[in-house]
Amino acid sequence: ATENATGIQRYDASHDTNAPRRLELLGDLRRAFDTDEQISLHYQPKIDLASGRLAGVEALIRWNHPVRGRMAPDDFIPVAESTSLIRPLTDHVLREAIGQAKRWQERGTPIPVAVNMSTRCLLDPTFAERVFELLDGAGLPPDLLELEITESMVMADPERALVVLRSLHDGGIRLSVDDFGTGHSSMTYLRVLPVDELKIDRSFVQNMTGSGSDTVLVRTAITLGHNLGLSVVAEGIEDELTASALRDLGCDIAQGYHFGRPMPAADFDRWHIEHSSS
Ligand code: C2E
Ligand code: CA
Ligand code: CA
Ligand code: CA
Repeated sequence: ATENATGIQRYDASHDTNAPRRLELLGDLRRAFDTDEQISLHYQPKIDLASGRLAGVEALIRWNHPVRGRMAPDDFIPVAESTSLIRPLTDHVLREAIGQAKRWQERGTPIPVAVNMSTRCLLDPTFAERVFELLDGAGLPPDLLELEITESMVMADPERALVVLRSLHDGGIRLSVDDFGTGHSSMTYLRVLPVDELKIDRSFVQNMTGSGSDTVLVRTAITLGHNLGLSVVAEGIEDELTASALRDLGCDIAQGYHFGRPMPAADFDRWHIEHSSS
């Protein structure tokens, strides 16, 4: 494990060939859901670039490990995804995000919440039913929930994924294609997927102002998204220069540290009040 600038422990479990350590991590994660003290969600604002208004939030999981401290999702999500533990994990995140969205709605400030999916859930024929049960249980309208998928999740088994995506979308849940531009993206599938939003991966966004070729790629992605009738989101925006470049390119929504970091719900509420009054 190494320490990065943010002080968050970097432990790359997906490349960990040490089976006992992997098992220990999985056991720790399983127990973490029982206590309700280690796992929480942070919410990062998504901003409408034209109006500057809040367009929604993305829910991002946080794990405070009793011994290792704060663990980055990239260090435990891939391990959970390699086992069936990703299902209870996703259920937990969905329940919590839906509960939070309901509190915002009841307060009179409805905010759509986006939750990250995994391949296993997307290929599970009972998944859509479970999501609608959670929405019904909380009394949350489906259009206040958005699910983020990646093209590689779909490509794992396109026929099966499409069935699940169609029932989610038919039921009124918004769907978003995350990390667009990375991996083997297939134009063919993007055209047939019942999605509403395209999120350009932050690796392209962050190189925009320095690299001409990444600007071309971002411009192309925005055009493609708009031609398909999708709302286009850019993530990982860290400065005003990038934000205004994206605004000029006609990008719809922006997400990144420049606008707001992922925050616990209480911090987000304070941020939201300040942001609305300015
Ligand atoms: P992602 O879905 O692409 O999420 C965006 C990541 O970019 C988040 O990292 C966020 O904190 C980070 N980010 C946002 N703005 C900026 C910025 O301006 N600069 C930089 N450098 N980074 C920015 P995070 O929270 O560490 O999550 C990493 C990945 O873990 C996520 O990538 C997602 O794939 C996965 N993940 C997070 N929460 C969940 C979850 O609840 N379920 C599942 N299945 N995956 C999750
Ligand atoms: Ca995401
Ligand atoms: Ca992303
Ligand atoms: Ca990602």
